Amino acid sequence: MATHQLQRGYIVVLEERCKGCELCVPACPEDILLMGRRTNHSGWNLVETQNMEKCIACNLCALICPDRAIDVYRFDKPLKVEIEETASV
Ligand code: SF4
Ligand code: SF4
Repeated sequence: MATHQLQRGYIVVLEERCKGCELCVPACPEDILLMGRRTNHSGWNLVETQNMEKCIACNLCALICPDRAIDVYRFDKPLKVEIEETASV
């Protein structure tokens, strides 16, 4: 069965600006950001995203980033997204 959630926005990480400082990771109230293993051309570890459908476009990640490496986009109207439910054991 599918569940529905309202997505309010999404972010784009400008990878060549990211220096892997990790400040944005705990700043996100929805746990969307995490450090990955990929690196940019300067050799910094890149922040990555997960579960983007949970983004509430609060802008906290962009505000805390010292390198202005995150752009936040807010939808005019929240989108309804379908999410696959996983069975609990
Ligand atoms: S805008 Fe807010 S909810 Fe979306 S990724 Fe950034 S901190 Fe998380
Ligand atoms: S705060 Fe900015 S520079 Fe630091 S890891 Fe996040 S996106 Fe990269």
